[in-house]
Amino acid sequence: MNADLPVAPQWFRLTELDERTTLIEEPHVRPLLRANAWHLRGRDRDLLVDCGLGVTALAPLLRKRFGREPLLVVTHAHLDHMGSAHEFRQVGAHPLERVGDPVPGSLLGPVLAAQMGLDAPLPPVLLTAVPHHGYDPGAYRVRPADGTHPLTDGDHVDLGEHTLTVLHLPGHSPGSIVLFDEHDGTLFSGDVIYDDVLLDSLPGGDPQQYAHSLRRLRSLPVRLTRPGHGSSFGRNRLHHLIDGYLACVTG
Ligand SMILES: [Zn+2]
Repeated sequence: MNADLPVAPQWFRLTELDERTTLIEEPHVRPLLRANAWHLRGRDRDLLVDCGLGVTALAPLLRKRFGREPLLVVTHAHLDHMGSAHEFRQVGAHPLERVGDPVPGSLLGPVLAAQMGLDAPLPPVLLTAVPHHGYDPGAYRVRPADGTHPLTDGDHVDLGEHTLTVLHLPGHSPGSIVLFDEHDGTLFSGDVIYDDVLLDSLPGGDPQQYAHSLRRLRSLPVRLTRPGHGSSFGRNRLHHLIDGYLACVTG
């Protein structure tokens, strides 16, 4: 299965964006499943927002780099956001997301397309490299995370010198959450909003809920969005993306 794929020299790419924010990416994953994870340094504890596919271990890398294990918050239970959740001792997620009983997922295009109800043809394998010799993408499964604690709308995640607010914004998935730093206007949005076509017809998706969630998001004083996929963007782009979706849904 992996005979044609090269071995990646390193699996994760970490980019320090400012004194507290590090972007974690998996560059050898094909775009559909190439998600962003965000590491935030806090005074009392660190926070990780999402954790990639779980193709190879992430927690030991973070312990080595930052000297301690973060609290993990999973924005939703899709494989590209929660794959490594089983590695972490503290995992927060909305109760409507199946973090403890996830859909198995797949790195094989036709299998994943069937699971997610996608019409578009996907490549046979959703990786462009493997993490080590002998890695079999066909054996990939999402592993359940234990001891998840529930996060619901209005909850706070306190890192010491600053606090993030949880908002429940369903539509992409039933229990999609975002984290909003009201102090500096930074939004960690998962798959609720990113700069591409928004997916509202995956299993558990709901366009009407999505529209309601995006109207709510539009009313917040967001300055910078750090999304689950692709590049970060500012307030004007956020409003443009929201308005484009709402125009389609409301016709
Ligand atoms: Zn998703």
